[in-house]
Amino acid sequence: MALKALDIYKLLPRKNCKECGDPTCLTFAMKLAGGKTDVDLCPYLDEGARAILGATTRPPIRIVKLGIGERSFAVGEEFVLYRHEKTFYHPPGIMFKIADTQTVDEIQAVTTRVLNESFSRVGADLRFSGIAIENASGSADTFALAVETVEKTADLPLVLMSKDPAALSAALTHCGTYRPLIHAATQENYEEFCTLAKHHGCPLVIKGNNIEKLAQLAKDCTTKEVQDLMLDLSPESLQAFIVRSTAIRQLSITRVAPDLGYPVFLDASVMEQQEAAIALGISKYASVIITHPLSQASAKAALTLRQNIYTDPQKPIQMNPGLYRVGTPGKDAPVLMTVNFSLTFFTLQGYLESSRVPCFMLIVDTEGLSVLTAVAAGKLSEMLVKESIKKFSVEDEVSHRTLIIPGYSSPLSGRIEEATGWKVLVGPRDAAEIGDFLNKEWKQ
Ligand code: SF4
Repeated sequence: MALKALDIYKLLPRKNCKECGDPTCLTFAMKLAGGKTDVDLCPYLDEGARAILGATTRPPIRIVKLGIGERSFAVGEEFVLYRHEKTFYHPPGIMFKIADTQTVDEIQAVTTRVLNESFSRVGADLRFSGIAIENASGSADTFALAVETVEKTADLPLVLMSKDPAALSAALTHCGTYRPLIHAATQENYEEFCTLAKHHGCPLVIKGNNIEKLAQLAKDCTTKEVQDLMLDLSPESLQAFIVRSTAIRQLSITRVAPDLGYPVFLDASVMEQQEAAIALGISKYASVIITHPLSQASAKAALTLRQNIYTDPQKPIQMNPGLYRVGTPGKDAPVLMTVNFSLTFFTLQGYLESSRVPCFMLIVDTEGLSVLTAVAAGKLSEMLVKESIKKFSVEDEVSHRTLIIPGYSSPLSGRIEEATGWKVLVGPRDAAEIGDFLNKEWKQ
């Protein structure tokens, strides 16, 4: 059972020495209770307290980091079974698979695609996460050459997939310092794989289709001092994946089986229905998903699903407040004020672009609430509009003083005029009508 901050505080040394990075033991206790720090940061804990706190305050699923640098990413550290209970924190890395038997040109083309391809959706850039290289040739030299080709083409997180420790060792000479994920140790070979993972400081996938044996294998690897593990459940079908992955999630977050508290790995490329496997993996607890390079349509679908599942349901997706241009507006262009709920922003922006009327969008900070909700909750006020006009220097951008406000904020029109000194035009309630509205009403 999770401990409360005061219970944790009672177990701390209460020296207030700040060595953990927090100003007091109480602050450290509060952070521990919220899973925001690690018990090992306090050097003065006795072993009994460390064991109790470690077991109750660490995230039930270990955080594992792949790669280094700008494109590195972390997976794991999840706390709930269902997204609506809280949120999911770390979206799965989706990685394109190449075989070391492919030509240099083919390998470079896939790597360059993962490096550069990006889809923009509701204010976020969606990208694939890295490259998985499979030792399909069985040759250590060929594998090392393919890994070297990828590594020289782009700085991306990698998965090295081979059964042969010698091939992995040869590949790690090219990328061992970049934290590639090593795939995969089994009960038969885990000692050699652990030696490699420990030597290069890399995370390691362990593989098996029996949950109890997988838990034992995880325990065996930790005794070899390899803690950053992931679990490949060797699913023979989509159903087998869902059953095992859900069981592992339940057993780990309830801390019934702490030895299974690691992120799950899914090689969707070996499943019969790859796209369906990706969708299930995103929805049901895979943290790294391997796929053959996807078509543009499938790529967008996978990244959109990932974005949706891993968006905090308690926080609306927000735009940064500011003054945005549509086209190249001049000094006499209309200024349309609206809220920073991203769906509102992108809907309005789309209709404004279709209207072909260059204009400014003044986006005010309603903490992501829609117009109607923001008005009802008092988050959209005349003072906010006044401050936003000043903050984003709107009066320097246009020569007129007319502001178009959304139809649903019409109750504020008089107060906005009074507070800002601007004339207010109440726009339509439906963004789809904004083009007609501008053509009829906007005359400066
Ligand atoms: S290092 Fe330990 S004793 Fe020192 S302030 Fe932090 S929790 Fe307290």
